[in-house]
Amino acid sequence: MSYSRLASKYIPASADNYMRGRGGYKVCKITPHHMACQWSAETCARSFQVAGREASANYCIGSDGTIVANVDEENRAWTSSNYYNDCQSITIEIANDNTDTWTISPKAWNALVNLCVDVCKRYGFRLNYTGNANGSLTEHRMFTATACPGPYLHSKMPQLAQEVNARLDGQTVAPTQPSSPSTPSGEKYSVSTPICTNTLSVNCYGTGKVYKGDWNGTIGRVIKGAKYPYRVDRNGVAIGWTNDTGIDTDPHIPGGSAQSTPTVLNSIPSDFNRESATFYPNITLKIRKAPTEKGIDTGFYYSNGMSVQYDGYVKREGFVWISWISASTGERRWMKAGVLNSKGYNTNPYGRFV
Ligand SMILES: [Zn+2]
Repeated sequence: MSYSRLASKYIPASADNYMRGRGGYKVCKITPHHMACQWSAETCARSFQVAGREASANYCIGSDGTIVANVDEENRAWTSSNYYNDCQSITIEIANDNTDTWTISPKAWNALVNLCVDVCKRYGFRLNYTGNANGSLTEHRMFTATACPGPYLHSKMPQLAQEVNARLDGQTVAPTQPSSPSTPSGEKYSVSTPICTNTLSVNCYGTGKVYKGDWNGTIGRVIKGAKYPYRVDRNGVAIGWTNDTGIDTDPHIPGGSAQSTPTVLNSIPSDFNRESATFYPNITLKIRKAPTEKGIDTGFYYSNGMSVQYDGYVKREGFVWISWISASTGERRWMKAGVLNSKGYNTNPYGRFV
């Protein structure tokens, strides 16, 4: 077994997800990839533990600079859609932010440089970026129709080769802080503004999923003109991106206290039935602050294709009302989940209970 001493851990990929050996080739290339995700190194490596995914990498680097080994260097990882490249290459997945340029953090950059220096020293080669597959620094985009490693890393390939080679030559290179796009202004909200939103765009592995729900946080970054220009941070961790529409249609005030009227029920009533399960509505349902038609409308809803985890229900006004604690406000939420029959059974549910 061999992997870099710079790796803090070895989280092996599923045996389904890489090739034994390197087909007789020796290591003479490095191929940096972008995760299209801000996963930790460990999360990325674990994603390659899923059997049948048919993808892996020799290393994963997180935004905090952590390096995790995933496929033993003696083996060919399945990363770059090219047999000859990956047989000869140490492949590295690197976490990036969720911007159009897929920028990587300064810590991830420094970890990448260090890992490249270590690999080049051990296998005895230098980084040569030729812009095509003949060089010793290659990119996924040279082999298939992909943006990988993303515009940012792509633009940094010559710099990566230069820094790594300088280190191999014994030159002291100050740790680089790769330039990141300056924080643009010109959007409605600015950095550090506390917000609530009902829309969160999360782009992992290019899935570009947009979730509807109920989140609060602080704007951590603004990308002017982006579809989802605001990065939402919670406790210092980016949870996704949102836009003006998502923020404006969310009526509650961060840190605001719940309105104390009979149309709000935050406590557990005596007729509450505890049940932890997930509800998948097949129609659009309003989320209220009390289990009654008179309960305050939060302005949010769940609809077909979404799901909610609830912790119990009551039967009132001819309906079953499921309930849960809002993750963002800590308040109890209520939503109709079906019509009761004359015997009080939920024979006409508004979706699936799992
Ligand atoms: Zn890639």
